Amino acid sequence: MPDNGSDSSSLLEAGIMQTVWDLRAGYEDTLASPLFPVFISVGFYFATVFPMTFFDLCASRWAWYRSYKLQPEKEITWPMVKKCLALVMTNNFLYVLPVTVAQYIWVPPTPLPAKAPTALEFFGQLTALLVIFDFQYGVWHAVHHKNRWLYKNFHSTHHQYHTSFALVGQYLHPWELFTIGLLTTVDPWFFRCHPMTCWVWMLMNVWLAVEAHSGLDIWFSLSTFVPFGLYGGSRKHDMHHMKPLTNFQPYLSTWDRFFDWDCPGMKGGGVKPEELLAWEQRNKRKRMSKHATELMTGTVNGFLSVTDDAKGNNETTDTAKDK
Ligand SMILES: [Zn+2]
Ligand SMILES: [Zn+2]
Repeated sequence: MPDNGSDSSSLLEAGIMQTVWDLRAGYEDTLASPLFPVFISVGFYFATVFPMTFFDLCASRWAWYRSYKLQPEKEITWPMVKKCLALVMTNNFLYVLPVTVAQYIWVPPTPLPAKAPTALEFFGQLTALLVIFDFQYGVWHAVHHKNRWLYKNFHSTHHQYHTSFALVGQYLHPWELFTIGLLTTVDPWFFRCHPMTCWVWMLMNVWLAVEAHSGLDIWFSLSTFVPFGLYGGSRKHDMHHMKPLTNFQPYLSTWDRFFDWDCPGMKGGGVKPEELLAWEQRNKRKRMSKHATELMTGTVNGFLSVTDDAKGNNETTDTAKDK
């Protein structure tokens, strides 16, 4: 029962959250299963990427679709999709499936509380999870670009695609897949999140990764709604695939701005916004400085080294050279 002091709006909030949570009635065994979070994450990933990939393959010549594409001149071809799908499926069978089976055997059912989280808890924790995951993975990502061994052996797999499409979000070395899976699963434990919050967080993280790799400038991206350009989304991450020493944060832009790693993204239709033109001018002038060179170089293999610096590698290439 609510406290006597609760006002009508908090009663309404509690009512909406509780109504949604009460929909679990009759499905408790399924929802409590340790397999449930894995199935919804994997299922949601394929449910979102398949239609988007279909459009990439079939609608790439349509003017209205190209108006949303960040790199409309780069065609997404079946061989690109096939190669990506092969690794994604291999990862799922070799790594995700055994972990799922292990969870089924050893992890006890999830306790399902009677009460729903409050709206404040739910949205507050989702925001905190986004900020924390973004920071953790941003650090992992920057380190795997700054260290040659780590880049070459792990993260360069993901950078085989300079033009990304939705499936590429999981075109990952198993170590990167493991890191992302671990962070996504463990972070909610710190907040003792309600199961409903955990599940929504997992689906949210899948969608944000898919959107970041979609290669599309879509109006319903979080970047449309988060003010001051704090959310990078697909525009910034697509630019990371073109200029791999920029935009290390997967979703937000805060730390990238602080360390001057931020590079504005293209707009739909392949339009270069003024801020990107200004960035290019700024870094052209500073090209000789080590820091600017750091931003401009390394796009051949996404890794900065003295050798890259001396060679003046500042072109975006279409194939990974560091395999
Ligand atoms: Zn990526
Ligand atoms: Zn990267």
